[in-house]
Amino acid sequence: MFPISPLDVVGDDLKVTLPDGEVVRFAHLDYAASAPCVRAAAGAVQDLLPRYGSVHRGTGVRSQASTLAYELARDVVAEFTGAGPGDCVVFTRNTTDALNLLARALPPGTTTVVFDGEHHANLLPWPNPVRLPAPSSPDEAVEALDRALRQLTGPAVLTVTGASNVTGEVWPVRRLADVAHSYGVRVIVDAAQLAPHHPVSLHELGADYLAFSGHKLYAPFGAGVLAGRADWLDAAPPYLAGGGASASVGDRPGELTWATGPARHEGGTPNLLGAVALAAVCEALTGADRTALHDHEQALLTRLRDGLRDVPGATEVSLFGPEQPRVGIVSIAFDGSDPAEVARRLARDHGIGVRAGQFCAHPLVRRLTRSASAGECGTATGLLRASFGLGSTTDEVDRLLAALRS
Ligand code: PLP
Repeated sequence: MFPISPLDVVGDDLKVTLPDGEVVRFAHLDYAASAPCVRAAAGAVQDLLPRYGSVHRGTGVRSQASTLAYELARDVVAEFTGAGPGDCVVFTRNTTDALNLLARALPPGTTTVVFDGEHHANLLPWPNPVRLPAPSSPDEAVEALDRALRQLTGPAVLTVTGASNVTGEVWPVRRLADVAHSYGVRVIVDAAQLAPHHPVSLHELGADYLAFSGHKLYAPFGAGVLAGRADWLDAAPPYLAGGGASASVGDRPGELTWATGPARHEGGTPNLLGAVALAAVCEALTGADRTALHDHEQALLTRLRDGLRDVPGATEVSLFGPEQPRVGIVSIAFDGSDPAEVARRLARDHGIGVRAGQFCAHPLVRRLTRSASAGECGTATGLLRASFGLGSTTDEVDRLLAALRS
């Protein structure tokens, strides 16, 4: 028996029945879409449920306990992201929500520089985007950014992913941030795919803002995070006007004072259980041996990538080349097979869950597949993606490879 760990996956013994009647353990290889729940998150929710009440709204013991739990969760996330004085941690619904919130808080007239390698959540919300082609190397990314910023006049921000949801490649965030900061440009990092695999410190990444989702961080209870500099957030109109976001409201329309700090953008009753679950995972990851977790994941990645060389017609896609560091995500192009059909057969005949399509990153997937078609997220065009993390095993990788070969 292995000791119980807060990072053990809940439900990793899910069974499925194959068409021939064989019952097998479901191999979940779609963590990049939504990771499974870990004990830390489930336990935090279980502990709080008997005391659950309104947040910031009551004097009773349930409300007091819930308010305390919510604000402690914020402190834990601040520590996880290295947010300090002058920063703000806002609980949101997910990464999409966090980036949309920030997009509406940019000072008027701000240009947003963004590469075409982004998930749509980090491509579409920005009011004045300057889109740079997806680069072929980290050096090319840095040079392209430098060129773009040299030509820009007026205020600008850079927004960039920490790790690609298509290729798993880690982007050169620190180098890009150094260039951006040399022009006085703030940096936003979409950490949806980085946070589950790497420590994400604002300071070490050189980021001014970080966004990520609980459901990709083993806490599937509907919370996300925007962490970063408070000044623009405090100056911006509230994301959701209503109770909680308002400090005082007079008798006439427009007679009101908005709250500052996270409350300004957390109008309405917050998602207490989501925030507490997310913080519980942050705490468990902070206390874990991240090097051991990283090594295990990299071993699985190597096994999968090596094995793919023996799968006829399958090619792993990459933007920056095979040597670029990656998180546990691999996307595969097929010569002559429809990835959606392959994914369906993996599920039906082998009990393996992966994702096929364009992963809400149409410009990048088009660039990687050199296909002219622009299907919807999850349609038959595009690639097949396998992704993993905590609790993933060599057996799952081997089953995927064997199934692909067959
Ligand atoms: N950014 C990246 C890199 C992602 O992979 C995703 C989701 O797949 C998102 C943003 C959006 O995350 P959510 O759907 O949780 O808002």
